[in-house]
Amino acid sequence: MRTPSFAGDVWLPGDPGFEDAVFGRQFNRRVPDRLPTAVVAAASNDDVAAAVRWAREEGWRIAVRSGGHSWAGYSIQEGALLIDTYPMQDMELNEDRTILRARPGIRGGETLNPFLGEHGLIFFGGHCPTVCIGGYLLQGGQGWNCRGVGWSAEFIESIDVVTADGDLVHASTEENADLFWAARGAGAGFFGVVVNFYLRVHPRPKAWVRNVYVYPISLTPEIFRWAYDTFTDVDSRVEIVIVGQHLPPEQTGGVDVGPVAMVSGVAIVDDAEEGARLLEPFDTCPVLDQAIAVERHIPTSLAKELEMQYQQNPEGHRYYVNNAWLQGDREDFADAFARAFSELPNRKTFTLWYHQAPLPPISDMAFDLQSEIYFSAYTVWEDEADDDRMIAWTTDAVTQMEPWTVGQYIGDSDFGRRPVKFMSDEHFARLRTIAGTWDPQGVFVGYLSDTEGLTNVNTWETA
Ligand SMILES: Cc1cc2nc3c(=O)[nH]c(=O)nc-3n(C[C@H](O)[C@H](O)[C@H](O)COP(=O)(O)OP(=O)(O)OC[C@H]3O[C@@H](n4cnc5c(N)ncnc54)[C@H](O)[C@@H]3O)c2cc1C
Repeated sequence: MRTPSFAGDVWLPGDPGFEDAVFGRQFNRRVPDRLPTAVVAAASNDDVAAAVRWAREEGWRIAVRSGGHSWAGYSIQEGALLIDTYPMQDMELNEDRTILRARPGIRGGETLNPFLGEHGLIFFGGHCPTVCIGGYLLQGGQGWNCRGVGWSAEFIESIDVVTADGDLVHASTEENADLFWAARGAGAGFFGVVVNFYLRVHPRPKAWVRNVYVYPISLTPEIFRWAYDTFTDVDSRVEIVIVGQHLPPEQTGGVDVGPVAMVSGVAIVDDAEEGARLLEPFDTCPVLDQAIAVERHIPTSLAKELEMQYQQNPEGHRYYVNNAWLQGDREDFADAFARAFSELPNRKTFTLWYHQAPLPPISDMAFDLQSEIYFSAYTVWEDEADDDRMIAWTTDAVTQMEPWTVGQYIGDSDFGRRPVKFMSDEHFARLRTIAGTWDPQGVFVGYLSDTEGLTNVNTWETA
């Protein structure tokens, strides 16, 4: 076998550091039981192109990694070359400071937004500081106040892609428009290596204001009914989340208050007083007088919000995550929700209601499936012996929502275990056609599934 020379590093099985190159950058420590044929840490576009050609010569398939944050470990594929884009870290703002060119291996919260902050700008990226923009943007990107701002992928102006032939092409709505359409929603099924994103950036909002309400978990049915009726009318500049979780002992004076429902609103505006006004509907909850704690008008910022995310998603842990886009009668799913919130299997696990309503229209791109309420369950643990129990709990939590589930979001998916619909039939068919044009031999591994590829159906609807 001929190993090409790369500016970046390359590891073959048996090389010192091979296992670390495969698994070391995987956020979820419950790593998959799969091994690539080799790993290339690409330091340049030429490295990426050479890696693609190498895989073609050897008859390998290809998987790509930016940040290694896919919960399911989508970048680690048996018998495929792993092209890791992380060594490329450069970014630049155009002259009129409207477009940022950024590499896929850049961390949205830790690197990209601090850089933009120096220029008074923001890109509405993901909630976790360490998620890289590569995987995040390709799947749609549920960033800060997605409800009001829209999906992050809607702010991609264009991309540079190394194709399955090893060619470097530019794609936008004007040039290679089908490839560009696919890149905004294909997620882990994308059939090329994105080496640059050109992102539209915004002036940074000056005031972030948070209200937080902590309720006993027993009140969740009442809270969900009220939330369902009330939040749709809340101003679109407010991000709304309800989390079922345990509070850290330092927040409760060492007392175990059991799981709680934490209702929070963050107004992302330019004026703190206006932010406080936009949060007033949160005070209309009929069980407000039974809240364990209420904090209003907390001045916050992107940096402070990101800091809190480190605590919620600790590093060095095992995770299983799954989700559901919900639609239907609030009377039914308020009770199912309450169960998923109250029966958490350990103190680190949390469940989430992310309020998306009213749904704004989505740009014409592959990503198109969402609903007014996003439910996701994040099981977090450390001991491998707990794997089966934690995975079973999460599976049960999302399965009991099936009567109201219209699909799922790739960002919190595990297609190998639960291949639920993630795109409309029309978009899925178009995506497959475009994949056939750009990668006719199926060199890029694409979606994981234990069958013959993903069918994009809700199995309980077809059974
Ligand atoms: C702690 C945590 C918090 C999160 N919070 C959010 C959130 O707030 N909002 C949200 O939307 N998601 C969130 N996610 C999900 C996360 O955005 C996705 O898992 C995303 O795919 C991670 O991107 P990555 O580049 O870090 O991951 P990777 O695992 O490196 O990439 C995932 C897949 O994307 C494809 N890919 C990656 N880079 C490229 C590239 N350059 N070219 C072609 N294909 C590529 C590959 O198929 C790869 O397997 C979170 C995940 C974690 C672990």
